[in-house]
Amino acid sequence: MKFADIIGNREVAALLRNMADSSRVPHAMLFYENDGSGALALVLAFVRYLNCHKRSGGEACGECPSCRQMDKLIHPDLHFVFPVNKGPKSSDDKPTSDSYIKYWRELACANPYFTEADLQKTIGIESKNGLIAVAEAKSLISKLSLSSVSDGYKAVVFYLPEKMNPETANRLLKLVEEPPERTLFLFITHSPENVLQTIFSRCQSIRVLPLTREERAKVSSLRKDCDDSEEVEFMDLFMDIMNAIVSGDLCAALDSIEQVSVGESREKQKAFCIFASECLRKIFLMQKNLGSVADIPQEYEAFFGQISSKCGKLFCVRIFPELTKAVSLIDRNVSSRIVFTDLVNRMFISVK
Ligand SMILES: [Zn+2]
Repeated sequence: MKFADIIGNREVAALLRNMADSSRVPHAMLFYENDGSGALALVLAFVRYLNCHKRSGGEACGECPSCRQMDKLIHPDLHFVFPVNKGPKSSDDKPTSDSYIKYWRELACANPYFTEADLQKTIGIESKNGLIAVAEAKSLISKLSLSSVSDGYKAVVFYLPEKMNPETANRLLKLVEEPPERTLFLFITHSPENVLQTIFSRCQSIRVLPLTREERAKVSSLRKDCDDSEEVEFMDLFMDIMNAIVSGDLCAALDSIEQVSVGESREKQKAFCIFASECLRKIFLMQKNLGSVADIPQEYEAFFGQISSKCGKLFCVRIFPELTKAVSLIDRNVSSRIVFTDLVNRMFISVK
């Protein structure tokens, strides 16, 4: 990943480049972003630049042995930690990131803007929660105790530290506080409030901004292979549910929601709630005669126009908090069938 290829977040890229140029690199940094905004792309460009021996014009050379290994994410001083669980793609009884590293590399090389749900799907644990367990801490401690292979920095890219339990964090704390020389911890979080305070307080935090509409369009073209279909699937489902609700057919709306409430991963269920919130925002803006700023794709203009005229004025205001609540209940492992049935019922009674 080159700095020039980063989509959005120019200021963060410039900050990282300056740190490397001035050799003032904090040993622990925490990048916080909305899922899929490109923190990983920034981190990968940063580590590649930092370890290149022939930097010029603010970019790594792309040709030295370090750059070549970085481009394939196989540099021996580049380590990855991410949430995992048992699944069909690994026979390990206590899986760690290494159990799935092949899939991680393929995904991150193809599209470093992947989402949490993309990762779960790629490593085959869609129906489970990913965790960073204590086996991971043991493995990392032993890797970092070895001396660097090259004379550059060792870097640990730590994706979603909020999925680490306190025992894992305790094991790693000393390492984060007093890392071996020229060792960096680069944490990427989607939920900084859930990162254990003991880790959070030792990091320099960096905000990675959400992407603009144009930037998101560029990312979508990268994502085409992995996940373009999800948005279409969610839109079809949202349309089915809303059309059933406005025509007074609760049974049809409940049938439709089963597509997501039964047999889908929690990450995908949460992603649908977030998608539905975005659709409600569009309906709300149309009801306020602000359709021009609602960013509605042409093919869905008729749908949003029709639905916004059929929903009561308070519908969106009532349902927004219900969607936020649904995400939090799914996170707390409440039965998704109950959560979604309740959600659809509430939409049905709030529509007029
Ligand atoms: Zn190089």
